Amino acid sequence: MRPQKINSIFSPISQLPGVGPKIEGLFNRMGIYRYIHFLWHIPYNLIKREKHRNIHEAKINSLVTLKLKILEHKPSRFKRQPYRIHCLCEDTPIDIVYFYARHPVIRSTLPIGKERYVSGKLEFFRNNFQITHPSYVIKAEHLNEMKDVEPIYGLTAGLSQRIVLKYMQKILTSLPELEEWIEEKYTNKYSFHSWKESLLTIHNPEKIEDLINNNIFRRRLAFDELLAHQLAIAIIRNSNQKKRGISFDSNQKIVQEFIKSLPFQLTKSQLDAWSEINNDLSSDNQMVRLLQGDVGSGKTIVALLGMIQSISSGYQAAMMVPTSILANQHFKNISKLVSSLSIKVLILTGKDKGRSRIEKIEKIKNGSAQIIIGTHALIQDDVSFKSIGLVVIDEQHRFGVFQRMAFTYKGLKPSILVMSATPIPRTLSLAAYGDMDESRITEKPIGRLPIITTSLSIYKEKNLIERLKEKLKTNNKVYWICPLVEESEEIDLKAATIRFENLKNIFKNKVLLIHGRLPEKEKEEIMEKFQNQDFNILVSTTVIEVGIDIKEATTIIIEHSERFGLAQLHQLRGRVGRNDIQSNCILLHKDNMGENAKKRIKKMKETTDGFEIAEEDLKIRGPGEVLGRKQSGLPSFKLADLSFDSDLLEDVRESVLNTISLDPKLISKKGENLRHLLYLFERDVAIKTLMAG
Ligand code: ADP
Ligand code: MG
Repeated sequence: MRPQKINSIFSPISQLPGVGPKIEGLFNRMGIYRYIHFLWHIPYNLIKREKHRNIHEAKINSLVTLKLKILEHKPSRFKRQPYRIHCLCEDTPIDIVYFYARHPVIRSTLPIGKERYVSGKLEFFRNNFQITHPSYVIKAEHLNEMKDVEPIYGLTAGLSQRIVLKYMQKILTSLPELEEWIEEKYTNKYSFHSWKESLLTIHNPEKIEDLINNNIFRRRLAFDELLAHQLAIAIIRNSNQKKRGISFDSNQKIVQEFIKSLPFQLTKSQLDAWSEINNDLSSDNQMVRLLQGDVGSGKTIVALLGMIQSISSGYQAAMMVPTSILANQHFKNISKLVSSLSIKVLILTGKDKGRSRIEKIEKIKNGSAQIIIGTHALIQDDVSFKSIGLVVIDEQHRFGVFQRMAFTYKGLKPSILVMSATPIPRTLSLAAYGDMDESRITEKPIGRLPIITTSLSIYKEKNLIERLKEKLKTNNKVYWICPLVEESEEIDLKAATIRFENLKNIFKNKVLLIHGRLPEKEKEEIMEKFQNQDFNILVSTTVIEVGIDIKEATTIIIEHSERFGLAQLHQLRGRVGRNDIQSNCILLHKDNMGENAKKRIKKMKETTDGFEIAEEDLKIRGPGEVLGRKQSGLPSFKLADLSFDSDLLEDVRESVLNTISLDPKLISKKGENLRHLLYLFERDVAIKTLMAG
């Protein structure tokens, strides 16, 4: 279906020469599955390699490229001895050195008596020049393949710069020529270059300015990405609006009785949100609504009201969550809450296999399951509903799901309620969800004490431990969150494990450890133990971030809090303060923090209002603060950085509105170009919608 022109850059990377299953797996870890995914992986730095004729012109410890004549091989005779190759650079002796070398490979790449260009860091060691593990050894005729300036890409363990670069360059040479899809008005306004030129420039930087955020080539691609995303949403909405949704019974008797039966009173905010939702549900337009509210503000119960309303109108309701831990938690809570209503609740996750899965799928299909809670397992092809009326998507960061849900169920148009994990400022929710309707819960349940947040230097850890000893006398439950060191779970895990051992020495068998590497089942068992047994401290990597609700937990300690983004800190803090006992959040930090880290911690101490924190987060996270972006909990784009590119949003929006009003089916020439854009950013789903009419 994709036009031929574009199709070629969507080939799977396994088709690249030299990419076998192992390398493919490594690239997959970087999110690279098809040729085109390379393009989104933009360099974060560059290095210069200087070519020198004469070794004495070159700087020691800099990257150089030298023409060497190979004289003699001195292979290593035992494992730890380096393999040396004696060479000459003009008249000066220099060695190439390899550790743990593969001898036959070296013999063939550096044949005796021949000349080669060798590039690497020039060292001076025991009165001798040497280059250890050169990054390039090339024949004279291939010299022009090596550039003086080379981009540096983010890697994953097991992949080298060289290999990424090699495939990157290969793919860049095969980019198709595509006609401009951005309106001239905007290409002029921002002085954008073409899509192709922008990509080529970004991947072949000449100076560091080519890589910074306000670089016009990256900005153009960010515009593209935002445009593709918003256009896709607009197309889907446009098509949904033409189709009638389901109109639910407007009689709320069952819901009202349910509200009365609750052990607590709903807040005014919750009731307002419910009334907005209920209005949508009883009209015959399809509801597509974002429910925003702080952690712990009680979004789930509001969603549940919608589900009950759906069921009392004769439809099923589904709730989709990102992990099976959460699915289980919701399953338990919701089953308990609706137990007096004789509603049949079912859970379906990736763990259901074979017989059990078949039975569950049958129940969903024949309607004997009414509320279905699950993970992505719910949108597998073989799951079909008897009559789905409402889909609730909880804590979802990847908004792609919403687009998929929007028309998985042909014929029936279920209402959709998306619950954001954290409050999102309007500019960002616009970017992420388009012009979706929004309800906000701004109050906390009555009787909740605001969490007290303090900060503490890591050097005062001893005091903290003493305080903990006091606390544990009254059977408090404590989360201890370990830092995100790098984007590598292995390293995170190490920090958490060390902390776990350390606390176990002090608190003996009161301590548990949980981390992302554990199988889901084990994670659940640990959470279960923490909640119900005599354990008081749960040491954790950031896995507990999303939605965990254990009322007994009253203290959260966040180690190296300076490394977390504001939104994430806020999200973590929301794990406590879920009952009427005073809760505490303790932010452990190193002594010399950066300015932004200080601002973040200060803000955390000042307020617990998630909407305020979200606004501040957007302000603080300057360009370049990559960690913040990744951790923000906001939907993430490949190239656009919403803390930086939000100024583009208005123009993108205007442009989308324009397109939708003039050429909603994208049939003009410009429309065809825009289709290319949608394909490039894998918004095929929008194009399918267009085709379906
Ligand atoms: P979130 O908005 O983070 O998803 P939840 O829906 O998980 O919050 O609610 C957090 C907890 O507060 C739940 O245990 C829920 O039962 C409880 N809760 C919800 N609304 C109220 C209320 N109005 N009064 C007291 N407790 C409430
Ligand atoms: Mg929740």
